[in-house]
Amino acid sequence: MRLAGKVAIVTGGGSGFGEGIVRKFVTEGALVVLMDRDEAAAARVAAEVGENVRPITGDVSTLGSFEAAADLARSAFSGLDILVNNAGVAQPPLALETMNEEMFDRIANVNMRSIYNGARAVVAHFKSIKSGAILNVASTGGVSPRPNLTWYNASKGWAIAATRAMAVELAPFGIRVNAINPVAGDTPLLSTFIGSGEENRARVVATIPIGRLSTPADMGNAAAFLCSDEASMITGVDLNVDGGKCI
Ligand code: ADP
Repeated sequence: MRLAGKVAIVTGGGSGFGEGIVRKFVTEGALVVLMDRDEAAAARVAAEVGENVRPITGDVSTLGSFEAAADLARSAFSGLDILVNNAGVAQPPLALETMNEEMFDRIANVNMRSIYNGARAVVAHFKSIKSGAILNVASTGGVSPRPNLTWYNASKGWAIAATRAMAVELAPFGIRVNAINPVAGDTPLLSTFIGSGEENRARVVATIPIGRLSTPADMGNAAAFLCSDEASMITGVDLNVDGGKCI
């Protein structure tokens, strides 16, 4: 068990990639605080997975939500070792001149501010225990952008840059910071990017050399490795989980 006894916060664990990460972490022996703004989704996953998952309703764009999750980790599970910044929002395809400020703010507040908030809430604690792992869920869009998703892609490029900058600052304290870059996934978020329908799906799959969409389990496997002691020499990387798309 790669994560035996480790305590993790996973944001956006009520659906999609985050749910896959929660499920894999528990299989590997972790105790998980699942923070999601969707109370019912968080409760569903916690009920299905069992007592090693504690749900908490929170919005990653606020520092207080992370502080509440960190408090819950310490009170329910007596520690905190891992933070997975997974919760994110997508944008529909839009030409640059048509994306309004409200949508830009939502992307910035969720995809970018969450990483800042998470760091504010956990780094002092990680320094005090001289260990800790942070994983940021970025996107292939952050390294290999497609047209009409510019501010989403840019937010993910920022997440990758933040990962490197945080890794350099925190390495001397025994804290590792990595990212994963999922390719288009078989999750509810996909329809925001591409609309619904088999034809749209097939068009996306055709851009992925390995010939399928990614899955929550794919992200769980990569996340469990990067957050485990097996990856103790790995920090500052962004790992493409992309079926070869970014080659
Ligand atoms: P993905 O493909 O990234 O996994 P999903 O839409 O399936 O996308 O899951 C994203 C999860 O993140 C959802 O459960 C959603 O409720 C959660 N989420 C989105 N925005 C926030 C936020 N601001 N704070 C907390 N959770 C959020």
